[in-house]
Amino acid sequence: MNDALLSGATIGILGGGQLGRMLSVAASRLGFRSHIYEPAANPPAGHVADRVTTAPYEDLDALRAFAASVDVVTYEFENVPAEALDAIEALRPIRPNRRALAVSQDRIAEKDFLNQIGLTTAPYAAVTTAADLETALLKIGHPAILKTTRLGYDGKGQARIRALSDAAPALAAMNGAPSVLEGFVDFTHEVSVIAARGLDGSVACYDPGENVHKDGILATTTIPARLSASQRTDAVLLAARILNALDYVGVMGVELFVTPQGLIVNEIAPRVHNSGHWTQNGCAVDQFEQHIRAVAGWPLGDGSRFADVVMENLIGDDVLRVPAIARERDAAIHLYGKAKVKPGRKMGHVNRVKRP
Ligand code: AMP
Repeated sequence: MNDALLSGATIGILGGGQLGRMLSVAASRLGFRSHIYEPAANPPAGHVADRVTTAPYEDLDALRAFAASVDVVTYEFENVPAEALDAIEALRPIRPNRRALAVSQDRIAEKDFLNQIGLTTAPYAAVTTAADLETALLKIGHPAILKTTRLGYDGKGQARIRALSDAAPALAAMNGAPSVLEGFVDFTHEVSVIAARGLDGSVACYDPGENVHKDGILATTTIPARLSASQRTDAVLLAARILNALDYVGVMGVELFVTPQGLIVNEIAPRVHNSGHWTQNGCAVDQFEQHIRAVAGWPLGDGSRFADVVMENLIGDDVLRVPAIARERDAAIHLYGKAKVKPGRKMGHVNRVKRP
């Protein structure tokens, strides 16, 4: 633990949403302070962090002052502008590193990288114009999905192409943004691996979870996932390959499609991940502590699973069910302190633990 941060050091976190909030809680449990940088006022993480800077990512002076006040910088979301990262990196280490961010910010760079290291993705082609889309559809066929290469999340910036007549409206939905056409993967189910890599290069993966999405947003994660022993090994090994290739430090979410032909990588998220929230009540060391340990240069903790868990996201009005959920046995409630309920907004989650 030569480079390890000591108790009392400050972890800087870019982004003040629920992930930043849960990272701050984990940091404080290890004796660290946390400083959140977030453009929006009154962020969920601000209720639990030691300090909050409210400023846009274009304010390089505010970013420099933030960096100077912390010992290491991490982030809860991957779309931090490159100029902001340049300003920070001149002063403090950013973990996970810039390459992980660059690769995951752009769906084409991500798929190029994954294929280069020998993993399988959906077939894909870059699209900006109607002519590109025509060529891409000839190459990939349909059904297919058109997605903006950058800034997509929770199913936003995506349009399905079931028949050729869907092509023009799908392209119009991209608003001229550079996009990628992906072949539709005929998967049986979706799983994810939450993987961690320490500063010393050691890797630890949580047991894969099975994810169900509703309207493009994660609804539930069930642990264990339906996977054969060899699929489980494949999932963990491919996640480790990604982390090692990126010289990664921290926790990453790797989303996979399960098909009869094998596992296909959908996307990677260089941060703690919604599908890893179950670890809060199913493991001795959850993904948030694991991430803080990694970025602080501590040894990784024990992420082995001691119970089956079903994580349910509380989205929008779901949060009104909290009084009833609070009466359930073995249901751990995690709320994000968001004042306003909005449709599609993640308000909290519940981990239902099945005792072994
Ligand atoms: P994404 O934002 O890329 O993770 O996509 C959100 C969800 O859309 C995924 O979790 C899948 O359920 C579905 N999806 C995305 N890409 C594909 C694909 N190439 N084939 C089939 N389903 C997909």
